[in-house]
Amino acid sequence: METTLTILKPDSVAAGNAGKILAHLEEEGFTLRGLRVMHLTQAQARAFYAVHKERPFYDDLVAFMTRGPVIPAALERDNAVAHLRQVMGATDSAQAEEGTVRNLYGTSIEENAIHGSDSPENAVKELAFFFGEADRIASL
Ligand code: ATP
Ligand code: MG
Repeated sequence: METTLTILKPDSVAAGNAGKILAHLEEEGFTLRGLRVMHLTQAQARAFYAVHKERPFYDDLVAFMTRGPVIPAALERDNAVAHLRQVMGATDSAQAEEGTVRNLYGTSIEENAIHGSDSPENAVKELAFFFGEADRIASL
């Protein structure tokens, strides 16, 4: 079993799609191991996406991610990281494969409904960013 980190982005929460996306993920075999609702600060969003800080879309991305509440979740499944990336679909919602979360609920390359860790190493770091010691112990 592996655990990965997803974030239902502000567009998903504002549109009332959070419950449907969580149900979609559960139907894909993911078990919820951590879940919270929070409104990211500028500093939190900048830190979370720091890998993109030199990219031209960074300031827009931070503005988007702090526009309203988000729902970070810890998701457990075999091959969780790779499977979530498959279920999410391509970054650009317009290019996302039929039936993927971004195809169903995303609206652009930026407002693409959902985040997913891109490697097992980053999943560990991103889970630690949002979930504390008690949550990690609960998932062992
Ligand atoms: P995420 O990290 O959110 O799971 P991803 O791994 O598919 O998405 P990244 O390249 O890591 O894509 O980009 C992070 C986020 O930045 C994207 O999900 C999207 O919201 C935004 N983004 C990426 N590329 C662009 C772009 N060219 N223009 C505007 N926003 C972008
Ligand atoms: Mg990414």
